[in-house]
Amino acid sequence: MSAQVISGTAIADTLRHKIAREVERLSRAKGLTPGLAVVLVGDDPASTVYVRSKVKRTAEAGMRSFDHRLPANVSESDLLDAIARLNADAGVHGILVQLPLPRHLDANRIIAALDPAKDVDGLHPVNAGRVASGQPALVPCTPRGCVILAKSVRPSLAGLEAVVVGRSNIVGKPLAHLLLAEDATVTVAHSKTRDLPAVCRRADLLFAAVGRPAFIQGDWIKPGATVVDVGINRIAGTDGKQKLVGDVAYAAAAQTAGAITPVPGGVGPMTIACLLLNTLQAACAQAGLPPPDLG
Ligand code: NAP
Repeated sequence: MSAQVISGTAIADTLRHKIAREVERLSRAKGLTPGLAVVLVGDDPASTVYVRSKVKRTAEAGMRSFDHRLPANVSESDLLDAIARLNADAGVHGILVQLPLPRHLDANRIIAALDPAKDVDGLHPVNAGRVASGQPALVPCTPRGCVILAKSVRPSLAGLEAVVVGRSNIVGKPLAHLLLAEDATVTVAHSKTRDLPAVCRRADLLFAAVGRPAFIQGDWIKPGATVVDVGINRIAGTDGKQKLVGDVAYAAAAQTAGAITPVPGGVGPMTIACLLLNTLQAACAQAGLPPPDLG
């Protein structure tokens, strides 16, 4: 058996088009153009690539894009001043601080300085708390995308056994809360989990957010399971060039899974689409409008 491939690229394209239509309508009907500010500190190559593609997609969706580049040695107080200016700027509805930050900056303190209403990465403790307690929130983009991908093949997740491998604040923990809100039965596994293969074999829905190339093996997959691979790992290909692989041994897993996301072309494009969705949602909330209805 070969699994159905869940195309994050196609699902994200559809979502971005719907967002662009709604942005156009809001701008025409209400004079509201959502604005997203991306703050990049330093010149980490992977972060620079991510920021470039976020800025490009923001503009394509018809939103205003504010690109803030700060030197790697920026002081914490200068960075906090920049955030305070963006918090106060009525044309900026969403603020994303690209992580990781250089070592001398405390990411928790920086994130806590964001206005929670503009925290489109969903990392501020207010949003994290709201997600954990099932209240309306700005939800972290990658977990939001993971749930959309899983529901594209399993419209109801109610009662399914979900296993999330990884417990980071940015992926694993919020994903577990979102899956609970979908009435799945959720297990969160991590580096101290005993007999991880047996835990994974229970999963109707398996989410891998570990950061280790091809770590989840084909024989850890329950037949027919839906597998969502969050991992983005750069390894040397056989031709000596770098290539991207996920956290799941894709070819082997696809023999047993019912559906699986590829890397690249799975979760990655959904993360950016959900960032735009969060920015649109934040802009509507700040303007006192109902949440966007994308149909
Ligand atoms: P992270 O903060 O490094 O967390 C990794 C998690 O994996 C931790 O909870 C860790 O457990 C767990 N882990 C590590 N080794 C393990 C093992 N041997 N067995 C079981 N669990 C193990 O990573 P992250 O930020 O969540 O990112 C995870 C992956 O997703 C990375 O490849 C990252 O690049 C990718 N990612 C992709 C997107 C996207 O848009 N597609 C977005 C974000 C992240 P402990 O807590 O016990 O250490």
